[in-house]
Amino acid sequence: MSDLLERLRGRGWRMTAQRRVVAEVLDGEHVHLTADEVLARATARLPEISRATVYNTLGELVTLGEVIEVSTGRAKRYDPNAHRPHQHLVCSGCGAIKDVHPGGDPLTALPDSERYGFTVSAAEVTYRGLCPDCTARG
Ligand SMILES: [Zn+2]
Ligand SMILES: [Zn+2]
Repeated sequence: MSDLLERLRGRGWRMTAQRRVVAEVLDGEHVHLTADEVLARATARLPEISRATVYNTLGELVTLGEVIEVSTGRAKRYDPNAHRPHQHLVCSGCGAIKDVHPGGDPLTALPDSERYGFTVSAAEVTYRGLCPDCTARG
């Protein structure tokens, strides 16, 4: 569940028309857009929006912890589902991405003997396979 706009309003985020459009584009479930996709969708709604504003706003949302950056493929993606720990299920055919919640915590799954003295603070797991559409097409 993502309710990005409500969260931003709740914390008194300065909501200009341009910044609101970026947040609206990112709002929703299973949203994982590249910066260029955010720019394209934001431009469709607000043609005068600038690339710099889109990129700066994305950076600010990440700094605020309201959007997370995920690396499941070549381009970094922006994910508004920042408040519920989750992993990703990625289609190798079409690139569709779903938020998934596997049992157990991948952070604690790594034994001390495999930590090499690191203080480990995060773990990302990406499950790959074919979505139903791609399986049917295959
Ligand atoms: Zn697919
Ligand atoms: Zn996600």
